[in-house]
Amino acid sequence: MSKRQFKAESKRLLDLMINSIYTNKEIFLRELISNANDAIDKLCYEALTNKTLKVDKRKLGIKIEIDKEKRLLKIEDNGIGMDKEELVDNLGTIAKSGSLAFKEALEKKDKVNIIGQFGVGFYSSFMVADEVIVESKKAGFMKAYKWVCKGLDGFEITDCDKQENGTIITLHIKENNKEEKYDDFLDDFKIQGLIKKYSDYVAYPIKMNIINEETKEKSETEAINSMVPLWKKNQKKIKDEEYYKFYQEKFFDYTKPLKVIHTKAEGIVSYDALMFIPAMPPYDFYTKEYKKGLELYSNGVLIMEKCEDLLPDYLNFVKGVVDSPDLSLNISREMLQQNRQLMVIAKNIEKKILKELSEMLLNDREKYETFFKTFGVNIKYGIYDNYGAKKEDLKDLIIFYSSKEKKMVTLKEYVSKLTEDDDTIYYACGETVDKIDMIPQVESLKEKNKQVLYLTDYVDEFVLKTLEKYDDKKFVNVSSNDFDLSTEEEKKLLEEKNESSKEMFEFMKKELGEEVFDIRYTNKLKNHPICLTSKGEVTVEMQKVINAMPTDEHINAKLVLEINEKHAIAKKIKYLYENDKKTLKKYTKILYNEARLIEGLPVTNPTELSNLVCELLAK
Ligand code: ADP
Repeated sequence: MSKRQFKAESKRLLDLMINSIYTNKEIFLRELISNANDAIDKLCYEALTNKTLKVDKRKLGIKIEIDKEKRLLKIEDNGIGMDKEELVDNLGTIAKSGSLAFKEALEKKDKVNIIGQFGVGFYSSFMVADEVIVESKKAGFMKAYKWVCKGLDGFEITDCDKQENGTIITLHIKENNKEEKYDDFLDDFKIQGLIKKYSDYVAYPIKMNIINEETKEKSETEAINSMVPLWKKNQKKIKDEEYYKFYQEKFFDYTKPLKVIHTKAEGIVSYDALMFIPAMPPYDFYTKEYKKGLELYSNGVLIMEKCEDLLPDYLNFVKGVVDSPDLSLNISREMLQQNRQLMVIAKNIEKKILKELSEMLLNDREKYETFFKTFGVNIKYGIYDNYGAKKEDLKDLIIFYSSKEKKMVTLKEYVSKLTEDDDTIYYACGETVDKIDMIPQVESLKEKNKQVLYLTDYVDEFVLKTLEKYDDKKFVNVSSNDFDLSTEEEKKLLEEKNESSKEMFEFMKKELGEEVFDIRYTNKLKNHPICLTSKGEVTVEMQKVINAMPTDEHINAKLVLEINEKHAIAKKIKYLYENDKKTLKKYTKILYNEARLIEGLPVTNPTELSNLVCELLAK
């Protein structure tokens, strides 16, 4: 029997497989099972038109058997089978459908990068086997054939005895070596695990023949795969518990998901998607190791465990699976990235998730607030990421605590309460609601019956800066210098007063050096003596955030110390300026540091401050 030779490029691929440095060798099983699945599909399809083919649907399936002693792993199907020519053509040539992409990449000679990025079909068996035997009988034909290959120097085809139509692939598993424990592929338990992992949703039952090592008796398992994936079932027939169980087992979370999103699309691109919003951040969410992505399937066969391109960064907490028959199993990662279908799916999925979230916000506020506590920062990040590219889609999904409502409100809700001539959304920054409540400017706004949004998250102000406006209303930080509610008349009076005290303020400023941009009287504080504000773009809050980042970047807000013109302290400093400049210097330091404390900034020199206060107390 003469050996037949492989075509040149097949030989190169085979060579790569045999000497593979590819670490994910286990995928060979997925590939062989997927071929078996296709073969059964083809048989069913043929039987529709060819009435001589008798198909007993109940018997269709895939069987796997291990012979440990002989180191054999068999994968058997009762599908369409192959005749002699097909064995030569299909298994001897690489230019077949699935391997085409691999071939193309091979031509680019990017050997290291291409390995691992392809499902390479049948040839992948050579990653784990040193001999592969294919016995096949084509449905509707009498004769069966055997294809045997031990490697690069070709394959043989002989007649063989096989009664049933279909194919048996027998792999002689390689011996263990330093890098690889090939014995794993002779372990019933491991193989069952791989079936579950990669082929759980193959539509035909995959059973194993388990051989008792002592008695050599065979017993057949139940189907190892679940077959009908949950995401393909009719939504109306799925109980919540089924979703929860699926989520918990698949994504290793013991809590129930906060929200299940199950959607089906048919059209230019068809897909089923089953997604979950976790109730709690995944255990590794805040680590570098965490990777976003959804599981990607093509007709129930896993293509990729984490397809990153299906989710925008800000939705990285979403878990789930997407199954689309329009995607080929053998697609490479790079090709996926440019895959038009995949881009359409990703866009639709993002839209769907946002729609579900806004419905939750509208209909189940309590749940939404729970969600927002955990993942609100993601939505905020989505707003300012990419120069605000997504801000329009996301602006109605953020909520802030409101001074008036005493609960979380949306920007829309805030604006709906504004009178017609009011064009300002006021906000104040601080660590907690309680702390913000005590900011002098906030208190005076409350007295004027104005609503203030409390920004307690360090990214909040960046979010509002990115939004710029909401519904044509501008955002004003109550701690900024622009914040002013007084009438023209009042403004004029104040300006005059400041003008006439210019020299005194200059004197005080000298005492504080570079730190303070300006000192002035204010009329916006009701009962409080002082406050610290900022002039210009950079606010005190932004200064805090940026300076707390682990980079070398430092910015300083232009700080303005404002003194309540009606407070007794105003009179006192005027008196001191005229009679006791030495003491005024001390007062200045104390007042400035008090204002810093109110704004949540550290005191520059605590000891000095403490000494100064005690000195005055002792008087
Ligand atoms: P692909 O499955 O992507 O076409 P493969 O290299 O895995 O590439 O398989 C090549 C061809 O061999 C298949 O297209 C199919 O025609 C044939 N084949 C492989 N396995 C089987 C099988 N179990 N039964 C029938 N035909 C098979």
